[in-house]
Amino acid sequence: MRSLRLKLILGSLLVLGAVIVSFSLFVYFAKRHNLLSLMDSRLAAGVQAIASHVEFDKGSLLFEPAEDYDIQRELPQAYRIVAPNGGVIAQTMPGSSPGWPTGSPEEGRPVWTESGTKKDGRWRVVTLSLSVTDEPDGAEGESPGVDLIAVVTVQCAAPFGPVSRELRELASQLAVLALAAFLVAGGGSFLLAGRALRPIRRINEALANVSETRLDERLDPGPFDKELHPLIGQLNAALDRLNKAFRRERQFTADVSHELRTPVAGILSTIEVLLRKERSEIELREAHEDNLEIARTMESMIERLLLLARMDAGKASPARKPTSLAALVGEVLAAAGLEAQKRNIRLSHDVDAALRADIDSEQMKIVLGNLVDNAVRYNRPDGSVTVGARRSPEGLVVEVRDSGMGIPADQLPLVFDRFHRVDPSRSEETGGCGLGLSIARKIVEAHGGRILASSSPSGSVFSIVLPEA
Ligand code: ADP
Repeated sequence: MRSLRLKLILGSLLVLGAVIVSFSLFVYFAKRHNLLSLMDSRLAAGVQAIASHVEFDKGSLLFEPAEDYDIQRELPQAYRIVAPNGGVIAQTMPGSSPGWPTGSPEEGRPVWTESGTKKDGRWRVVTLSLSVTDEPDGAEGESPGVDLIAVVTVQCAAPFGPVSRELRELASQLAVLALAAFLVAGGGSFLLAGRALRPIRRINEALANVSETRLDERLDPGPFDKELHPLIGQLNAALDRLNKAFRRERQFTADVSHELRTPVAGILSTIEVLLRKERSEIELREAHEDNLEIARTMESMIERLLLLARMDAGKASPARKPTSLAALVGEVLAAAGLEAQKRNIRLSHDVDAALRADIDSEQMKIVLGNLVDNAVRYNRPDGSVTVGARRSPEGLVVEVRDSGMGIPADQLPLVFDRFHRVDPSRSEETGGCGLGLSIARKIVEAHGGRILASSSPSGSVFSIVLPEA
């Protein structure tokens, strides 16, 4: 299971682990370096000290430390002095010495080697060759003028054992320290992670109180740390949007029920009146015709609602292709011809045949059809409707202009809302259900365009901006 707390604890332990391991390695190797350097400098000093005490005595080489010289204390653990003929002039007890490397190196240059086995103990050995001279002064009867020179090999060795022991001790101390630091840090980060996650629990509890019926509850950022304020702001904004969407949804459901109740009530009352007594053929026919008209209005409303629902769900995205605007407008005006004729309204268009828009022609027919229908239905008798189109920097602008009674300025922004009618009695008269313009806006926006309305007492203009092909 993924756990934020576990991740925080493991993350901090990982960082701490890396720090402790690097620190321990640094301390360990620095100490090791120090100990080995100390050992080497003691060996180097030892080999020089021993060499300075090798001298000729009556023609033979002797190792003669001064009387007050404490060999045990001053010299390294083991030493050996070898004469040029290979004979050993002096050495420490063989049992406590390493296997001495043989051969004599270049004079004056110490050679460092290691000998011994892991089992019997390993040693650090320094070998130095140097010449010992005797300058006879003739006082003691030596043949004058003859210098005695001999190259002796001095070796000193120190066991690695004490260094290894000290390093082992240091390693175990560091391990104990690291373990203790790990335990303390583990406990600490467990508590800290708990503290750091507490606000999330509090936000969770606060959100649990928000329900469908209490969508106006908001989180107060006051008690939370400032780093969480943007998150709380976003949550509150999301709640706002949800609240609005729920309200819209509820309002929409209420509107749909209300809109459908009126025609259903109309059909029911017609049937009830019809059933009260015997009816003539003509009366029955008239009643059926009334009901048919109401049912057609309902059908059109249901179709529009379904289209809106499909567009809301993103299931009716436009299938665009380059389309001639003049042809499209011609088709729309032809469809509105009959209704316009009934009201004696003149339809005309002025669209350049070269203008081509990148649109879904079926969907755009619905948009222009609605605009032209409205322009005809909300016009005055003997009025006119003109459709024009022009290029603009934003795209192609199509305008539907009428000579009707216009829309009051305060109503203009509302006409695109679902079920909004400026004058309900007039809409009823003309068979409108207040959905045409909201569908038109949805379709135009799905094309990446805009729809605008402007109006004066002498008529209205609805303009749509569309992408050019
Ligand atoms: P409806 O189906 O009622 O016509 P619409 O969504 O098409 O619904 O229009 C919404 C309202 O806007 C209409 O009820 C009407 O009052 C007003 N309206 C739309 N077009 C015009 C117009 N060209 N002139 C005057 N009023 C209009």
